[in-house]
Amino acid sequence: MWYNNLSDYLKQKYNKKLYKLALDAGRTCPNRDGTCGNRGCIFCSGSGSGDFAANRQLPIGQQLAEAKERIQKKLPAEDVGYIAYFQAFTNTYGSVEELEPLFMEAMGDAEVEILSIATRPDCLQEDILDMLERLNRIKPVWVELGLQTIHPKTADYIRRGYDLPVYDRAVLALKEREIDVITHVILGLPGETVEDMLATVEYVGRTRTQGIKLQLLHVLEDTDLAQEYREGRFETLTLDEYIDILELCIRHLPKDMVIHRLTGDGAKRILIAPKWSGNKRMVMNIIRREFAKRDVEQGSAL
Ligand code: SF4
Repeated sequence: MWYNNLSDYLKQKYNKKLYKLALDAGRTCPNRDGTCGNRGCIFCSGSGSGDFAANRQLPIGQQLAEAKERIQKKLPAEDVGYIAYFQAFTNTYGSVEELEPLFMEAMGDAEVEILSIATRPDCLQEDILDMLERLNRIKPVWVELGLQTIHPKTADYIRRGYDLPVYDRAVLALKEREIDVITHVILGLPGETVEDMLATVEYVGRTRTQGIKLQLLHVLEDTDLAQEYREGRFETLTLDEYIDILELCIRHLPKDMVIHRLTGDGAKRILIAPKWSGNKRMVMNIIRREFAKRDVEQGSAL
């Protein structure tokens, strides 16, 4: 069993373990403020997919220090490093004047090795790309793009608010600037078949972004998806189904693509379904055990 997982990749590259510090740049999202929508993506909770992010009222330096302290309390004293992760909402939605100082502040911490910025592909205008290029010369910058699916029907249903070519252009522009891209894909979106999900994953494989996050669809409180779920309009995946789909996806991904995540990341306190996904450690153990049994190998179906 082998797949190119993030923690091995980081350990090899940095010779130590890197931990993510969830930071909040105080942004909103064009899919929420009326620019391309008011209600956000159908699955997105009020926190803009940043349910573990820090207190957005605090300056970045303080958020960073508090996040480090929380991690250090749980760790034995060892040489560690950090990824400053701007996860909540759309972190390139704003002017360069507003954003660059925030990112610089996070990067300025000597223990921060990587700056990771989650955003939408339609929020990467030329001046923002130039800023990312400047930052990438100081420390590696990762840009995480929420694609979720390549299928227009599902994209409409989830109210993603941009078309596939926008993603393609963003990936190209970032690659030209030698900035690593990580694509988010959601498995289990309503109406999608296993073939649909695989087609999305294969597409991402062909774009050869540096990494991919495979996320199980979570139904969270405070989302329109929760309403649909309660009305019985769709069902979420079982753990067995999810493992089968994951296996298929991994076998179809290029070997050099780093897999940043194999499950979802929804906060347990607002998780409605599937309930089994709430115990992340147990789920990961089961997935690894099954993968070992089936001798899953990334890229074996290519
Ligand atoms: S683009 Fe991101 S932050 Fe905006 S509504 Fe969709 S999931 Fe939420």
